[in-house]
Amino acid sequence: MLIDGFGRKHDYLRVSVTERCNFRCQYCMPEKPFSWVPKENLLSYEDLFKFIKASIDEGIKKVRITGGEPLLREGLDIFIKMIFDYKNDIDLALTTNGYLLPKSAQKLKDAGLKRINISLDSLNPATAAKMAQKDVLDTVLEGIQKASDVGLKIKINCVPVKGVNDNDILEVLEFCKTKGYTVRFIEFMENHHAKDGAKGLNSDEIKAIISQKYPNFKMVPRDTSSPAQYYELEDGFQFGIIEPHKDDFCAQCNRIRLTAEGFLIPCLYFEDAMSIKDAVQNNRIDEAVEILKKVLAGKPEKNRWSVKDDNEVSSRAFYQTGG
Ligand code: SAM
Ligand code: SF4
Repeated sequence: MLIDGFGRKHDYLRVSVTERCNFRCQYCMPEKPFSWVPKENLLSYEDLFKFIKASIDEGIKKVRITGGEPLLREGLDIFIKMIFDYKNDIDLALTTNGYLLPKSAQKLKDAGLKRINISLDSLNPATAAKMAQKDVLDTVLEGIQKASDVGLKIKINCVPVKGVNDNDILEVLEFCKTKGYTVRFIEFMENHHAKDGAKGLNSDEIKAIISQKYPNFKMVPRDTSSPAQYYELEDGFQFGIIEPHKDDFCAQCNRIRLTAEGFLIPCLYFEDAMSIKDAVQNNRIDEAVEILKKVLAGKPEKNRWSVKDDNEVSSRAFYQTGG
């Protein structure tokens, strides 16, 4: 079992397969980074898989593939199948912007993928284009539909940003309610790579907008394995809000992140990281597991988004860490 220095059990591994992306979301990667990690510096699928196997043997029960945009990396379905064939009851999921799903959803499902989280910040084509800095909406909606048609379980992620998509929250909620998708609104996590001046809506502001149409929603008792706090409308539909600015958000953290370059990252906020690259490339898997345990032992107790200090902002890039 993997336990950190604060007694938190870790059974969830997020694996970023690329930092590259075909969108330029204002809250994540508004401009193309000065340089990309050269492709030869990335861990191969075989090396990532060696580590995933070892972490499953150590108690990881859920693996999520993310990025950057994970569907930009060729052969992702083959990688997913490697994981599925090793342990077919693993909770295997993917987070994507959805743009490449029309062509890949069936292959992903056939490879063993069960669940998919898709980012959808607006149903207004101009707003979606403003957020992603590209005309994306029609293709993303086609991707969501395709994923649903092939039988993938869908969750929608929406990051409300002031002056961009704050007027779209109810429409995104309504869309998900009609289609039967789970939806989570994610508080914008301030970081150096986001667009200058970007401001997110906090949980209370998101709830105030939803209560304009649904004044009587109720808080659902917290499922400690989920980062989201769920709320239930009178008709039973539930929506979630991910509230990293709340002081107790990190208390149940069960996740560890691996970047495409082989860095293990204990917390989304801080720069701390340790590389398993040399160990896995040279088949010293026991050493990679030792590094994993060391990273967990040093994991911070909580992020600092809950600390109101505008001078201190996370320097971690979401597109490298994988969100
Ligand atoms: N490209 C894929 C996507 O957009 O879903 C996967 C990678 S993305 C980094 C993973 C998640 O992080 C997405 O749901 C995205 O909305 C979220 N995200 C990125 N930057 C964020 C920020 N500054 N604050 C909150 N969520 C963020
Ligand atoms: Fe790309 Fe996802 Fe970041 Fe948007 S949130 S820029 S889609 S990695």
